[in-house]
Amino acid sequence: MIIVMDPNAPASAVDRVVAEIERMGSRAHLSRGEFRTVIGAVGEEGTLDQNHLASLDGVEKVVPIMKPYKLASREFHEEDSVVEIGGGSVPVVKVGGSHAACIAGPCAVEGEEMLYKIARHVRDGGATVLRGGVYKPRTSPYSFQGLGIQALQWMRACGDELGMPICVEVMDTRQVEQMEKYVDCFQIGARNMQNFDLLREVGKTRKPVLLKRGLSASVKEWLMSAEYVLSQGNRGVLLCERGIKTFEDSIRYSMDISSIPVARQWSHLPMIVDPSHAAGKRDWVGALALAGMAAGAHGVIVEVHYNPAEAQCDGPQALLPETFKELMGQLRQIAAVTKKEFSEAAVTAGA
Ligand code: PEP
Ligand code: MN
Repeated sequence: MIIVMDPNAPASAVDRVVAEIERMGSRAHLSRGEFRTVIGAVGEEGTLDQNHLASLDGVEKVVPIMKPYKLASREFHEEDSVVEIGGGSVPVVKVGGSHAACIAGPCAVEGEEMLYKIARHVRDGGATVLRGGVYKPRTSPYSFQGLGIQALQWMRACGDELGMPICVEVMDTRQVEQMEKYVDCFQIGARNMQNFDLLREVGKTRKPVLLKRGLSASVKEWLMSAEYVLSQGNRGVLLCERGIKTFEDSIRYSMDISSIPVARQWSHLPMIVDPSHAAGKRDWVGALALAGMAAGAHGVIVEVHYNPAEAQCDGPQALLPETFKELMGQLRQIAAVTKKEFSEAAVTAGA
């Protein structure tokens, strides 16, 4: 349920409500709006005394949230959330509200030199966050599985050198602690969207989490997965539509454009689209990226390679650097129509 405080309720009243929620065995999550504070109380169903909370000083009203997801809902947080990726050794990139961002890079880090080459291309093309897989969720156990920790270290060094925060997929709870030291943003892959232990584990960190939609997950299930992360106190969830399984077999996955307005109405979380994995073929990546932005996304995550034929993973869908740059120009125009602006790359000395 959410506890809406009076606009002029003092901090002590907010503290008292939080203490009472915790005494009843639930967790309190604060959402400070422009005019008032809203407190989300979440815990096991049936453990909160609504009447008692409503009687406390400074409480305007107590509203049960009927939806199965609470902290992810618009009821809890009316305005769009703005998630910050980066900080520390790299600039902060904001995503959400009027802030759009482009995350780009190779599907997988295949070597140090190739990583730096692609990273420079995508940065020069307009990306502000670098992606690159180091543990790859491959359909076949005999396909390239990623270079692991070595690749993660290259990603960190490359991001630092080029002034780009890095976004890397985490596949297993056992990787979270180690990866947390390196990444600016965790990526949860489509196949792990309902790996609840993993969601809880990244939820315990304070690094943003890009949550891909599962291959056959409904928007509601996707938001429930976001709720797992949020319920651990991590506020930085970004939703990512990457296409779902349908009967259509002309394309790798069907990008569900309608999920964008639906999820944006139901939730305050930023929305990113991944046209690369939906299309599976570079010819269609641009159109899907533009459609996603036009439908209200806050940015894209795109795979790029200068020599896709030699890519160990997802070569057919990788954009060539010049095509990527051209697409960024078009995306900026669509963003202007939907009242968003892409972040600009930071200029770093000698990079
Ligand atoms: C990826 O981003 O490289 C990836 C494997 O994506 P997905 O989980 O959407 O298939
Ligand atoms: Mn890929």
